[in-house]
Amino acid sequence: MLAVRKLTPSFGLSLVEVDPPRALNAGEVLIEVDAAGICGSDVHVYEWTPGYEFMQDSLPVTIGHEFAGRIAALGPGVQSPTLGTAVVVAPSHGCGVCPACHAAHEEFCAARTTIGWVRDGAFARLVIVPARQCFTVPQNLDPEVAALTEPLSVGAQAVKTGGVTLGDNVVVLGAGMIGLSIALMARRAGAARVMVVGKSDEKRLSCAKDLGFKDVVDLDLQPLKDAVQKVFDGPVDVAFEATGVPSSLTDGLSILRRGGILVTTGIHSKPAQLPLTTIVRGKYQIRGSHSAARDIWPAVIRLLASEPDSYRKLISHRLKIQDAITGFELSRRREAVKVIIVPGAQ
Ligand SMILES: [Zn+2]
Ligand SMILES: [Zn+2]
Repeated sequence: MLAVRKLTPSFGLSLVEVDPPRALNAGEVLIEVDAAGICGSDVHVYEWTPGYEFMQDSLPVTIGHEFAGRIAALGPGVQSPTLGTAVVVAPSHGCGVCPACHAAHEEFCAARTTIGWVRDGAFARLVIVPARQCFTVPQNLDPEVAALTEPLSVGAQAVKTGGVTLGDNVVVLGAGMIGLSIALMARRAGAARVMVVGKSDEKRLSCAKDLGFKDVVDLDLQPLKDAVQKVFDGPVDVAFEATGVPSSLTDGLSILRRGGILVTTGIHSKPAQLPLTTIVRGKYQIRGSHSAARDIWPAVIRLLASEPDSYRKLISHRLKIQDAITGFELSRRREAVKVIIVPGAQ
């Protein structure tokens, strides 16, 4: 079968023919992948920007961690999900034996394994995963929409981390998939107004408008502070950084009310310089958010199933696996919002 693989710790990805998956171990299932999304982090892996050195010992590896499919085979001892069940898969799982895992806080496990980074992922027709990472989705939910569960869960986790509550004013810096996911989930959480901010990012800012956001700002046309003043008439309650650009942290802080919360979600290849005295005096809170705790997943699946068409707007391209590298280039040039690879397409 064809697979998109990272072969060496340098720029690029390769489309290669690989052997069919090995025999399943206890507790594993084989998934036939129906749809797999290209994530911003996959683009970092493609470009091999700093921050992904942890993958080095696992190369070569098939990437792809945002996916939906059906159970094609069960390993020894697996009772559920049953054969043929439609599922999505939480790609990150804990070691199962550390204090965090024992306390049911797998998200804080320091020895997490991620499918598609350090073990073979979903840019291939078949992938082996631990059965307990599977979440059942309604049979009639379009797999392309179901494959959005992972990035939307990341957005939902960030919104939870930021403590967004009813009536909050929110600014999201970054109009990529995670920025848009955060904006959608902040609106769902009851934010009064959500501003989406991008820079030289026409395609994705216009997707924000399609998603129904009225306050969409292009920093090429308007300075951030002016835009925030105009829309909110003052500083805001919560700001999110979803850019990976260090200066976004100071930008985010500059528009917060005292005691406001800045959530950082980007993967930064460079450190940021922060105005610490201002942070102390203003009692600003800076919080990191990454991936999503297990309880977020079923909630997001219910949201997707309740209005699939509104979330489908996030999908800008559908490509065969043969054209996967084109998908990475489109994402890299910000000409795509979400590219979905369909490994079964002929
Ligand atoms: Zn992702
Ligand atoms: Zn653990």
